[in-house]
Amino acid sequence: MTPTPLTHPSRRQLLHGGAAVGLALLATGCATPIGSAKARVVVVGGGWGGIGAARTLAESGQVDVTMLEPNPSFMSCPMSALYIAGLKPLSYLNHSYRNVDRTGVRRVRERATAIDRAARFVQTETQRLPYDYLVLAPGVEYMEDSLPGFAEGRDRLPVGFRAFEHEAVRQQVDAFLSQGGIYVMTVPRPPFRCPPAPYERACLIAEQMRKRGTKGKIIIVDANPDPTPAPTARPVRHAMETLYPNEIEYRVDMVPTRIDAARRVLSTPEGDINYTAANIIPPMRAPALIRQAGLGERWASVHLPSFRTTADPLVYVIGDSQGTLLPKSGHVAFGAGQQVAKEIVGLVTGRPDPAPAPGTTVALPGGICWAKVSERTAIMVNVSASMQIGEAARLRFEVDPQHNEPSKKASIVWADAMWGSMFG
Ligand SMILES: Cc1cc2nc3c(=O)[nH]c(=O)nc-3n(C[C@H](O)[C@H](O)[C@H](O)COP(=O)(O)OP(=O)(O)OC[C@H]3O[C@@H](n4cnc5c(N)ncnc54)[C@H](O)[C@@H]3O)c2cc1C
Repeated sequence: MTPTPLTHPSRRQLLHGGAAVGLALLATGCATPIGSAKARVVVVGGGWGGIGAARTLAESGQVDVTMLEPNPSFMSCPMSALYIAGLKPLSYLNHSYRNVDRTGVRRVRERATAIDRAARFVQTETQRLPYDYLVLAPGVEYMEDSLPGFAEGRDRLPVGFRAFEHEAVRQQVDAFLSQGGIYVMTVPRPPFRCPPAPYERACLIAEQMRKRGTKGKIIIVDANPDPTPAPTARPVRHAMETLYPNEIEYRVDMVPTRIDAARRVLSTPEGDINYTAANIIPPMRAPALIRQAGLGERWASVHLPSFRTTADPLVYVIGDSQGTLLPKSGHVAFGAGQQVAKEIVGLVTGRPDPAPAPGTTVALPGGICWAKVSERTAIMVNVSASMQIGEAARLRFEVDPQHNEPSKKASIVWADAMWGSMFG
């Protein structure tokens, strides 16, 4: 019997279901007194989380917002597998910041290089930006040291788990599809950005191998015993095993020990793999900026439901850099950005939402990840999150029991709706 796909949320639910707002907030000692010049908020990062925060702050008209983002435009990681497999053009992922600028966000095309929390400013290559509140959403950095040889071979090992890295992966995949051989992919242990994404990428490349008659196979070297996160293991395994039994070889519980990119050898405890092309997905952590500012070790330490850092009440960390059990998803990052922006506006206008009483249950930002496992089918992974004040956060997964066509169609609607609200 074919399992029934889950019902898809409406566009409105897609955009607002996860972004539960209205949390409460203790006054925190904003440096700009109410009634004087507008409070200054600096947002670091113009990705999913940063846009959610910067736009909502600017649209309030209550604060001066500066967003630091070195890239000239936005490039989406969600849906990038469609580009890598040759099913969508690069322009599908690429969005202009024009309408973000129109909301009043002052966009500065520079990197934040340091944060001085005592003096309350962010340092860039050329300037100091003072802040009353700081929202950090710089995404992730790869832990290159976790695999000896990776850093030396970096130029030949595109990862494609951050914006603007997808073209290099696409070139590598195109070459593999025409010449064949062994395409090796590694999957780290969580937490990392969008855990279903490596399997999605493998499936879409495998489908192209079949269509183009590519000789060879994809070997997935997974550090986990099963596809992650756990609720997706069955449908993802089922898709790999039934759709691509000849194209994908799935090896589990295997952590690679070394890579020699010049000789194209990946070493594992069970022997060497001689490959044609390698897509190594390293373990991830928050960028150095966050760790150097004393906001956490591997990930930023934040309070939920507020996303305020445990080290500093004027600094929020949202998106993949924060270290709660919320999934590292663009949808969650965007919702968290909107939420912290509303909290900051409440604080600077002297009208903070009342703090939820102990024992009250509040919704946390949730979201949907899509594993598109063929041109026509996908698996929906819908995560909702909540917490009882004073207790740990809880996640609830709804996962399609099997890949299906309605979820593939819904993934396209989801992406258009998300990008529409970020850049429309
Ligand atoms: C292949 C793939 C598929 C995915 N599919 C989905 C999906 O279906 N659904 C979903 O919800 N999520 C998905 N994700 C996850 C999603 O991409 C991330 O969770 C999301 O990008 C996190 O947002 P963020 O704002 O934390 O980081 P990002 O979106 O990465 O934004 C960080 C930004 O900060 C900038 N930055 C970094 N350092 C600095 C600095 N020092 N100064 C200034 N700017 C800086 C970067 O240039 C970047 O633009 C997917 C990810 C991948 C890789």
